[in-house]
Amino acid sequence: MEIIKNDTDLGNTILRKKSEDILDIDKSIKNLIKKMKSTLNKSGGVGLAAPQVGINKNLILVKPENKIYVFINPVITYFSSEKDVEEEGCLSVPHVFLKIDRSKSISLQSKDEKGNDLDLNIEGYLARIIQHEVDHLLGKLIVDY
Ligand code: ZN
Repeated sequence: MEIIKNDTDLGNTILRKKSEDILDIDKSIKNLIKKMKSTLNKSGGVGLAAPQVGINKNLILVKPENKIYVFINPVITYFSSEKDVEEEGCLSVPHVFLKIDRSKSISLQSKDEKGNDLDLNIEGYLARIIQHEVDHLLGKLIVDY
C-alpha cells in the first residue's frame, strides 16, 4: 500500500479528517490489517495509522521493536501530566523531525484484532508511538505541535 504524504491533495483531505470507528472486524478489515502490517514492515517505521494508507478508520499498528501490535478503535483515556520531549518523524511527513512533548504514560482502551477489549496502562516509547498514531485518527500531524 502506498503511504499518503501530507503535502499532497489526498494528504490534505484524508490525513486531516477524523476517522470513524470500526463496527465489525470483518474480512475487509482483516485484509486491511494484513496489508498494513506488510506496509509497516517495508517502511522501516514504528507505527502506521489507517488514514496514512487512505482509509479513515480507527485502526493503528505499532511496532516498538520486532512485534506489531494492532489496536482497533483506540481511545486514550488518561494522559500523565508528566511529559517527555523526544524527536519524532512521520512516514506521511518525510524528512521532517520535530521535538514533541508527550505524556510519559497513558491509559488506552481499544480492541485487539480478534475483537477482545483491552484496557492497558502503557509508558515510555510505546506510549509515545501510540499517542502519535492516535493523533492521526484525529486528523493531527507532528507539524501541528
Ligand atoms: Zn505519523
